Amino acid sequence: MTDPMIACLDMEGVLTPEIWINVADKTGIADLRLTTRDIPDYDVLMKRRLGILDQHGLKLADIQEVIGRLTPLEGAVEFVDWLRERCQVIVLSDTFYEFAAPLMRQFGYPALFCNRLEVDDTGRIRNYHLRQRNQKRQAIVALKSLYFKTVAIGDAYNDTPMLLEADAGIFYRPPDKIVKEFPQIPVTRSYAELREQICKAGELEP
Ligand SMILES: [Mg+2]
Repeated sequence: MTDPMIACLDMEGVLTPEIWINVADKTGIADLRLTTRDIPDYDVLMKRRLGILDQHGLKLADIQEVIGRLTPLEGAVEFVDWLRERCQVIVLSDTFYEFAAPLMRQFGYPALFCNRLEVDDTGRIRNYHLRQRNQKRQAIVALKSLYFKTVAIGDAYNDTPMLLEADAGIFYRPPDKIVKEFPQIPVTRSYAELREQICKAGELEP
């Protein structure tokens, strides 16, 4: 008998729109459009984002207001429902609990591993705290130590360590640049293709 499978899903770009891009559009601050697709070093990216928020006097509540109006990508809720009937699902995201809640509500609150923001009395985001370094890959390492078979799905640079560590790693709608750098990772461009790859990886019923 094979080990039961756990699926680890990136959130932004796989299930939901990119939060920061939407904040950039709604606030008109173009510099906030940068993502891990543009700047692979997450710390450099986050420090830059928090600096920009300060320059414009934007607080946590302003960002939460934008996120509260976002909806999941089309078909994402049905995809997660489908997957949760077949295996355990964890959303592994580099976002923050303070940002993710309104989006996770729309999926019925699956397990979420992410990070926390440090906010002062005025609501200004003072800093961010990673729960651990390289958390996406570390989660896969831990799940494997619990005798789960792992399948991981992501779309960007910050996902590649977990995609390479998982028993099966799958790209979902990645930019061409990353596909060229990681030719060993299969690419899917629709939830139907993704379901097919997951079924193959976990020997699941379609
Ligand atoms: Mg992503």
